[in-house]
Amino acid sequence: MKIVTTLSEMRIERSLLPEPVGFVPTMGYLHAGHISLVKAARIDCASVVASIFVNPTQFGPNEDLARYPRDLPRDLALLEAARVDMLWSPTVEVMYPSGFQTWVEVEGLTRSLEGELRPGHFRGVTTVVAKLFNAVSPDKAYFGQKDAQQAAVVRRMVRDLDFPIEVVVCPIMREADGLAMSSRNVYLNPAERQAATVLFRALSAAKAAYESGERNAEKLRTLVREIVTAESLAKLQYISCADYDTLEELETVRAKALLSMAVLIGKTRLIDNFVVGL
Ligand code: AMP
Repeated sequence: MKIVTTLSEMRIERSLLPEPVGFVPTMGYLHAGHISLVKAARIDCASVVASIFVNPTQFGPNEDLARYPRDLPRDLALLEAARVDMLWSPTVEVMYPSGFQTWVEVEGLTRSLEGELRPGHFRGVTTVVAKLFNAVSPDKAYFGQKDAQQAAVVRRMVRDLDFPIEVVVCPIMREADGLAMSSRNVYLNPAERQAATVLFRALSAAKAAYESGERNAEKLRTLVREIVTAESLAKLQYISCADYDTLEELETVRAKALLSMAVLIGKTRLIDNFVVGL
């Protein structure tokens, strides 16, 4: 696996890659969820590029940028084993040289849910993803359904800014007890790790209700709220039952809908979601 850290090197190495090129952007501290994206890219594409960049501009001032978990040697071994051809691993100075002042912002889709609780988060995400896309010029880019709003926002940006890139959204990978895999799960102590299963339990109950015919969105939200409230270590930040594409809150579930939530377990913020009406 070629490790590339500068834009000039990237231009040369990118031109040598057999096409189509698949791209998997990450912030590192990799787990099986990230590797599932690499596997999907490996099946579709002649070359696979991954990136590791902990993007400072998508973290709020009181968020976990400084303590975001990192383990580059382990990540390199996992990417090698998954047969990644190239790792794009730029420094903050390469991505944001002094004088940087240009931003990419998707408006409507970023106002609710994660965007409402994390002001500026998606501006950082879309700016860095646009820059990563410009550096790597992939044919296909792979994102996880785990970050459902991010996937919707990136799809919108690609359409609006005419990136010639196909966005592929891959299913959520979970631990045996249902907890969605996340680099942030490492923050949980044993009691919190146990409590964290409440996200999957609550979403599963709502999904079961949907499958038994419940189409009232508020009833589905209430079901989730009640289950999360019963878990003493959990604090629900939001529960949403929204249109899959526009992310507008629904009264009645008629087409493809996204049931999504954010929960604080102690100090750790976890998100999870289910898609219904596929
Ligand atoms: P991150 O390193 O957290 O920025 O995630 C990089 C990519 O991996 C994003 O597209 C995430 O949605 C995706 N991802 C993270 N966790 C999972 C998971 N449990 N299952 C599938 N994809 C995931």
